[in-house]
Amino acid sequence: MADNRDKATDQMKTWKESRLQQKPDILTTAAGHPAGDKLNLLTVGPRGPLLVQDVVFTDEMAHFDRERIPERVVHAKGGGAFGYFEVTHDITRYCKAKVFEHVGKTTPIAIRFSTVAGESGSADTVRDPRGFAVKFYSEEGNWDLTGNNTPIFFIRDAMLFPSFIHSQKRNPQTHLKDPDMVWDFWSLRPESLHQLSFMFSDRGLPDGFRHMNGYGSHTFKLVNAEGEPCYCKFHFKTDQGIKDLSVEEAERLASTNPDYAIADLFNAIANGNCPSWTFFIQVMTFEQAEQWQFNPFDVTKVWPHKEFPLIPVGKIVLNSNPVNYFAEVEQLAFDPSNMPLGIEPSPDKMLQGRLFAYPDTHRHRLGANYLQIPVNCPYRTRVANYQRDGPMCMFDNQGGAPNYYPNSFSAPQTQPQFLESRFKLSADVARYNSSDDDNVTQVRTFYLEVLNNAQRQRLCQNIAGSLKGAQLFIQKRMVENLKAVHPDYASQVQAHLDKHNAEANQSAAVYSRPGATAIAAFSKM
Ligand code: NDP
Repeated sequence: MADNRDKATDQMKTWKESRLQQKPDILTTAAGHPAGDKLNLLTVGPRGPLLVQDVVFTDEMAHFDRERIPERVVHAKGGGAFGYFEVTHDITRYCKAKVFEHVGKTTPIAIRFSTVAGESGSADTVRDPRGFAVKFYSEEGNWDLTGNNTPIFFIRDAMLFPSFIHSQKRNPQTHLKDPDMVWDFWSLRPESLHQLSFMFSDRGLPDGFRHMNGYGSHTFKLVNAEGEPCYCKFHFKTDQGIKDLSVEEAERLASTNPDYAIADLFNAIANGNCPSWTFFIQVMTFEQAEQWQFNPFDVTKVWPHKEFPLIPVGKIVLNSNPVNYFAEVEQLAFDPSNMPLGIEPSPDKMLQGRLFAYPDTHRHRLGANYLQIPVNCPYRTRVANYQRDGPMCMFDNQGGAPNYYPNSFSAPQTQPQFLESRFKLSADVARYNSSDDDNVTQVRTFYLEVLNNAQRQRLCQNIAGSLKGAQLFIQKRMVENLKAVHPDYASQVQAHLDKHNAEANQSAAVYSRPGATAIAAFSKM
């Protein structure tokens, strides 16, 4: 046997070694009945047929038939791990959440990293944003910061989300990824320019999950013990350093090692090389929010560091691999509406949409009692409410406690200190079109000031390499959008497209030459 196998490949061997002192368990059915034979059906004579009373078989087969749950509509492919968050800097002047209570305090966490558009068997190294979702198991209920490796997103209005995702997934007839759909949507919605510029830059191909930053992306509200609120953004900067894959390496890995990122994370932790991230916030007062040149609740925009500097908070460390992938990662359910006291939503329209969408999808995937699944359960507090019953009720269903409120029988009571902060709203209710809410200024800064010349060239090459698959009118519309960012951005992408289109025309011309049809037909014979 090869002695250079990694820890992930050696998992079976390691498990066996951990059991050397024990006799194997007695094999049972799901009902706990010991089985005498697990290799041969119970049949009438050696040639069958089989008896339905073979419950060792039917028990196994019926469960096998139900092994799959719906995969996540987005973020289907991913890996996860466990660890802790430690406070290194006091931010109690901004936030009263217990996770930030004092310097040195630690809170257990779970993290799931993922790609977005691919199915659960797809390759880890495709160009796509990466999910970066953190669950803090706090003693006052779980806090889920359901972010990405980008501080921004493609759209700012959650109404567009299902269509946006449909455009990135599969064509309804061909079941293929479709460049017309992808680029039609993006070119019709120029607010996507910022995020797609990130995604087609070098950071669109992160080298595994450990070498990328994470961001809460949305604007949230923090409230301190005096009830004073401010707005906030969350950032996790990788302590491993940013590392990206080249296009060629990402493509090679997609075919030779499609689970590259999951294996990299598992092996790093198994080898004691525990990845960590430094946790920062940015804060903005309500007055600043009123006066700021951009809409601070627009998730297609960042808060520039010079105006809103990063404030250190702590670090997150991953030091424990899941013991069982399905139980602890596939069933790990994040929900931005899981916010403990002191952390509240901002008006961000994408966040508001996600507050509904995430718990809704978990109820569909995992069932109405998904919060009772151990990995999702707020195990550091005691749940006491008036919810009862439903599928897969796993605990005592709150026993004999009254199941209605109010009641006269000492059942759970509310307390005013746990109220959310009060705020005033007054505006006309309408469907506001935000599609042209400055889609270019920050993209221009990114293009001109963040990227160097070589990075800009690769960005343009990468965009053209994907956009070339779309029809010409879509290519044209996209290049017009890039022109609004900067003429150089548009002309570089156009130059690459011209090259691709000329090559495509040339090969089409070969096939339309007299005789070419016959040659093509002959070569198929
Ligand atoms: P700064 O110069 O202070 O920050 C630039 C940021 O860009 C850094 O956070 C850096 O991350 C990040 N960055 C570098 N290369 C890339 C890349 N290829 N893809 C994505 N991010 C990258 O500038 P500002 O805060 O004034 O922002 C200027 C522009 O930088 C913004 O318009 C936005 O496009 C981009 N940006 C801003 C962020 C923010 O929250 N302010 C975050 C990320 C990007 P690191 O330090 O980890 O290398």
